[in-house]
Amino acid sequence: MSAEVTGEAADRDVGQTFRDALGRDPGGVFSAPGRVNLIGEHTDHNEGHVLPFAIDRRCRVAAVARDDDTVTVRSAQQPDDVVTTTLDALPRARGWSAYALGTVWALREAGLPGAGWDLVVDGDVPLGAGLSSSAALESAVALAVAELSGSTLDRPSLARAGRCAENDVVGAPVGIMDQAASLLCREGAALLLDCRTLEAHDVALGLEEAGLVMLVVDTRVRHDLADGGYADRRAASLAAAEALGVPALRDATPEMLDRLDGTLLRRARHVVTEQARVHRVVDLLRGGRPAEIGPELTASHASLRDDFEVSVPALDAVVETALEHGALGARLVGGGFGGSTLVLTPAAAADDIAGAVTRRAAVDGHPEPVVREVHPSGGARRER
Ligand code: ADP
Ligand code: MG
Repeated sequence: MSAEVTGEAADRDVGQTFRDALGRDPGGVFSAPGRVNLIGEHTDHNEGHVLPFAIDRRCRVAAVARDDDTVTVRSAQQPDDVVTTTLDALPRARGWSAYALGTVWALREAGLPGAGWDLVVDGDVPLGAGLSSSAALESAVALAVAELSGSTLDRPSLARAGRCAENDVVGAPVGIMDQAASLLCREGAALLLDCRTLEAHDVALGLEEAGLVMLVVDTRVRHDLADGGYADRRAASLAAAEALGVPALRDATPEMLDRLDGTLLRRARHVVTEQARVHRVVDLLRGGRPAEIGPELTASHASLRDDFEVSVPALDAVVETALEHGALGARLVGGGFGGSTLVLTPAAAADDIAGAVTRRAAVDGHPEPVVREVHPSGGARRER
């Protein structure tokens, strides 16, 4: 596995950092994980299904309620930016603190009473690598603030608060998958999430028993196209649904695709076939056949590349190289136009694949990728 430096966040004690910074004890320490989506790409904005799992990298938050209306927030990942504000100013938060302060604001909007907070953050979810450090931060803050307030808000409500922070305070038009995964996933399992109803079911992955591991390969390529491309694919999906007379592409059947052609056909075909792949993967996992999901992952990539047209050469190169070196399946994850790929492989082939994708990137003139092994972990929890 290529070396990776993430700091010693996993070994640091955020409770001690809190005491050092604030001179008193936190009321509690909470943590929430990052996530990766096994399959179901661009299905979320079509009201379909996604299948994320939480990973073994977490954001930790030590918190205590105050008796005035001040809110302070610090992060070991942003050591030069201690933020002090008031409850009234929360919706105007900017920069990294908007994720945390926006969550406090959204919980208050959801009816949580109480005064200000002192929050100290530390984590080892890499920032901006497609593993959703943002949802990990929001979810850890949401659980901390809710539990320490004695709130009865359930976890889906906490997930909605995190999403609300990201949509309305940070200003990022994200769906609810990341927060739902961070708050609802169980160790060793993925979460089958219906993005229309938010109905969620655990699906055991059974990777370890089968001698399999997942790698996330961050290509460190990000195209300027990403935001415009994402908006364009959303618009195309809506147009295709309208042309077919269905509320969302989630409701379209394979037979209906005959009524489309050209670009709309290809965009809709990705969503319709991806929905079917999600359900086949769930069936295979429930049948205890995790190795057999590999071809579905690879088919997802081909569909994202050829029909949805959101891949780039650096992502295709990782998928191709991983498969050549023993991977069972691989696909780009996230919106596309750069970012990461997910690779399913027998544990024995992981090092070989990491070396091969790194060499291939050098040959192709792409940035050196970062390869991380991820393990399906439990959702947000109180640590103490
Ligand atoms: P991703 O969620 O894929 O990691 P985003 O761009 O959505 O990428 O979110 C990353 C941003 O979230 C960071 O740039 C930072 O502003 C904020 N963030 C996430 N985790 C932390 C943390 N532990 N401390 C401070 N800011 C964080
Ligand atoms: Mg994010």
